[in-house]
Amino acid sequence: LEVISAVEPRVADAITQELADQRASLKLIASENYASPAVLLTMGNWFSDKYAEGTVGHRFYAACQNVDTVEALAAEHARELFGAEYAYVQPHSGIDANLVAFWAVLAQRVESPALAAAGAKHVNDLTDADWATLRRELGDQKMLGMSLDAGGHLTHGFRPNISGKMFEQSSYGTDPATGLLDYAAVRATAREVRPLIMMAGYSAYPRRVDFAAMREIADEVGATLVVDMAHFAGLVAGKVLTGDFDPVPHAHVVTSTTHKSLRGPRGGLVLAQPEFAEAVDRGCPMVLGGPLPHVMAAKAVAFAEARQPTFAGYAQAVADNAVTLAEGLTRRGASLVTGGTDNHLVLIDVSGYGLTGRQAESALLEAGIVTNRNAVPADPNGAWYTSGIRLGTPALTTRGFGAAEFDRTAELIVDVLSGTTPLPAASGGTSKAKYRVEDGLADRSRAAAAEMLERH
Ligand code: PLP
Repeated sequence: LEVISAVEPRVADAITQELADQRASLKLIASENYASPAVLLTMGNWFSDKYAEGTVGHRFYAACQNVDTVEALAAEHARELFGAEYAYVQPHSGIDANLVAFWAVLAQRVESPALAAAGAKHVNDLTDADWATLRRELGDQKMLGMSLDAGGHLTHGFRPNISGKMFEQSSYGTDPATGLLDYAAVRATAREVRPLIMMAGYSAYPRRVDFAAMREIADEVGATLVVDMAHFAGLVAGKVLTGDFDPVPHAHVVTSTTHKSLRGPRGGLVLAQPEFAEAVDRGCPMVLGGPLPHVMAAKAVAFAEARQPTFAGYAQAVADNAVTLAEGLTRRGASLVTGGTDNHLVLIDVSGYGLTGRQAESALLEAGIVTNRNAVPADPNGAWYTSGIRLGTPALTTRGFGAAEFDRTAELIVDVLSGTTPLPAASGGTSKAKYRVEDGLADRSRAAAAEMLERH
């Protein structure tokens, strides 16, 4: 910090403050975690300066032998960890991993047949007329994914994201009565849409997904199944999600982030069945520029950590703690989307407290509990204000929280939600953003959180 401070003290101060803030509050954001010191230290070194476009042993720059070592190690650990035949560790983030996957499917299923038909090996060998036709075909494909309000992700073909501009998007939701995925309904939608890519995976669905069933549906309609396991990769690595619930044996392509439940550095990952390997390998230069060697090195370290037996214990604790949290909330009267959880996350519908997700998020933050607001299925408050609060157990489980702490956390959350009231808007009616937490409640909650955190 002294070294940083000598250059820009405000950055050093912000780092110190961030550490203090994270230490003093209950981090329940489902997509966050605490990476190990080994992972953090691997990211802060001279690898960061190196350019290495290309793939292992096939670079467009000189002196990449050490980058080759770490990239090959990261890919090998990823293959072993997930039982995958092929792993690509260059994506800089989850969105990059998805873009690499989408373009790999387009390359394999649309571009390659077009090149063969035109008697060309490379796009540069096409005539301008052939290239114009191919570009139209590439832009004329369909994607089917989980709707946003059911827990899907923006990168699964939705308009604000580039995937929504690349594909004509359709979505499947959840059963309005149970909140659960209805595979018969997914099949019916897939038969109607006949997408090139069928997406599975989520950021806010608190249940397991049957990937064997998803693959069966994809096969029936001739779709390529891409599973985005960004959120639950740690549960796959830790063998909490196995058999039909493990996407790796079932999906054609699996994408992930490496920094959520997997507890690695900020980054992305693609696993693929062999027929897509070559197309995925072209992620650079198709979608990516130079890889981040320091982050690939940290991925190698994180995957090596996840291959140790203790990681399975961690992953099981993440899932067990989510059940304790869900039960503690339900027992105290909270309403949960799907009635519970069987992964690492819990979604509370806060409308029963008369609050929007935004009010609940702010009140909880005041009380030392860091969460994020999230839409619930058919949310009347939309994606900005929302009616839900998403909670996840990966970060606090890393800190050593167990059943007693998560039950106490549930108690604190319900106390804060029950003790918060919406305030009137300046223009009349009830504001969706303004709220008031009962006097002294936020302080008491912060003190209780600090007491638990001190012991961990
Ligand atoms: N996919 C899913 C399911 C996610 O939840 C997220 C992030 O929240 C992403 C992709 C994007 O990851 P990143 O933020 O690393 O681009």
